[in-house]
Amino acid sequence: MIIYEKAPAKLNLSLDVISKREDGYHNVEMVMTTIDLSDRVAIHELDENRIEISLESRYVPSDERNLAYKAARLFKEVYNIAKGVHIDIEKSIPVSAGLGGGSADAAAVLRGLNRLWSLHIPVQELAEVGARIGSDVPFCVFGHTGVATGRGEIVNRLPAPPSCWVVLAKPDIGVSSGTIFEQINLEKLIHPETGRVIDALHENDYPKLCHSIGNALEEVTCSAYPEVKRIKNKMAQSGAEGVLMSGSGPTVYGLVKHESKAQRIYNSMKGFCKEVYYVRLIG
Ligand code: ATP
Repeated sequence: MIIYEKAPAKLNLSLDVISKREDGYHNVEMVMTTIDLSDRVAIHELDENRIEISLESRYVPSDERNLAYKAARLFKEVYNIAKGVHIDIEKSIPVSAGLGGGSADAAAVLRGLNRLWSLHIPVQELAEVGARIGSDVPFCVFGHTGVATGRGEIVNRLPAPPSCWVVLAKPDIGVSSGTIFEQINLEKLIHPETGRVIDALHENDYPKLCHSIGNALEEVTCSAYPEVKRIKNKMAQSGAEGVLMSGSGPTVYGLVKHESKAQRIYNSMKGFCKEVYYVRLIG
């Protein structure tokens, strides 16, 4: 039997860093939603008790450093399963982009193994297991739209955003979240209006959503990589209705109500940036 799981990328509609914790991590508040840009994960059982990963990517390791591998190892350990699996990952989500690709794959593995071995583990519990892999994994286990707090492990569902398109532009640089978090000065951080973002979702108010999206890491990443600011400005000039960097960057996205306009903005960003996509917000 082969289990297939879709692993959609996430976008941050809001990302706030609240405080530094004693365990070295940060307390965050992040509103996230999923987009129609997904990796595909296929899982089947092996005769031997080991974990194999196959994927074609120059940037992602296929050994125990892969987050999908870590998810499978942790799952087997927590639920005491002495069976092996092969995990094939078809990557479409750009790597080190702020779109949570690795976390999405890890979450897909947790959901997939739950199905493969018919364990019926509640999704809440899977998310708690996922928190041990990375702070975006719990949200990715749930998918859709939600607000994550704590280290990211407390996830509350939110209504899907109003239907719209999203143009994504990724400058030709990879940004490590760890490095960006190390550079944060909590006193100087510009906090986004997360409450307004959540209200906009509850009210299904597209203009309000476009005006409220915000990311406390944007300034930090833009100072280190001015290219991100340049792309942000270009996206806004091209007519996107709400523009923001996702995660710790460097991907910048623009929300656009109508497809014809999204296509125009996509074309104009293409001249500026090698990696550009336009997809639906699925939330
Ligand atoms: P983060 O905010 O955690 O850095 P991101 O979305 O910016 O997430 P990812 O695409 O998840 O970036 O990749 C971050 C790092 O994780 C890269 O160094 C990559 O090699 C590693 N990685 C491990 N497993 C995976 C995976 N399955 N897919 C993508 N990257 C992975």
